[in-house]
Formats: sequence, C-alpha cells, structure tokens
Amino acid sequence: MKPVSEKRKVLNIERAAMLEETFGPREGWYCQFAIYCERFPDVIVRALDRAHHGEVHGHEILKRSRGGSITDPNNVALLCDFHNGWVEDFPLTAMKLGLADHARPISKTTQRINALNKKNHPGEAL
Ligand SMILES: [Zn+2]
Repeated sequence: MKPVSEKRKVLNIERAAMLEETFGPREGWYCQFAIYCERFPDVIVRALDRAHHGEVHGHEILKRSRGGSITDPNNVALLCDFHNGWVEDFPLTAMKLGLADHARPISKTTQRINALNKKNHPGEAL
C-alpha cells in the first residue's frame, strides 16, 4: 500500500469531518445520483443507468488531480460504486448533470495560473 503523507492524513481527517457534517453519519448515506437527474430532467439517462450498486462514497465533482478540493462540501456528491464508475464512463452527460467537471481538458493558461497561485499561496486550496 502507498504510504500516506502527514499532510494527506490531516486532509483525510478534515474530509471525514466535512462529510459527516454535510451528509450525516455514514450509515445513513445514500447515492444522490437520482437527485442530480431530477435537477436536470432534460438530460437523458437510460433507465438501466439509474440502478445503484455497491457502497456509497464521497465523489469529487472536480477531481483532485484537476485542483478540486476534497474538503469543500460544494465539490462533493455521494455516489454508489456504480455511479462513481458511470461518471467516468459518461463524462459529458455527468457534466450536464453537475456531477463532473473534468471532461474538458485544463488549458495551458489555467495550468499556468494554478501553478502561479500555488507558488504565491502555498497551502491554499485552489
Ligand atoms: Zn448510485
């Protein structure tokens, strides 16, 4: 198993606290996929893609690898294993539902700005 840095351990504790504060105790969590579908009734999602499977986890709407925060409640939705995978398989539809913000590649300009922000404000989430 990959070792977890001290900084990451602290962040994971912060994330667990945020998830419980936002969504309540883990035992009561349920997949929010249907809520997002209801919000955007014009987005077509096949009936077979609406069934839930597996455990429910916090899903980052803007991925960590794209600078998304894992501790910002506005960047997290609860999704089951199936719908976590579904977002990866159907990124454009997931974007229309507000469940993903990673289908679009990050431009060179944004990468430069993010790098500058990181340099000028170390430790600050982007
Ligand atoms: Zn689900």
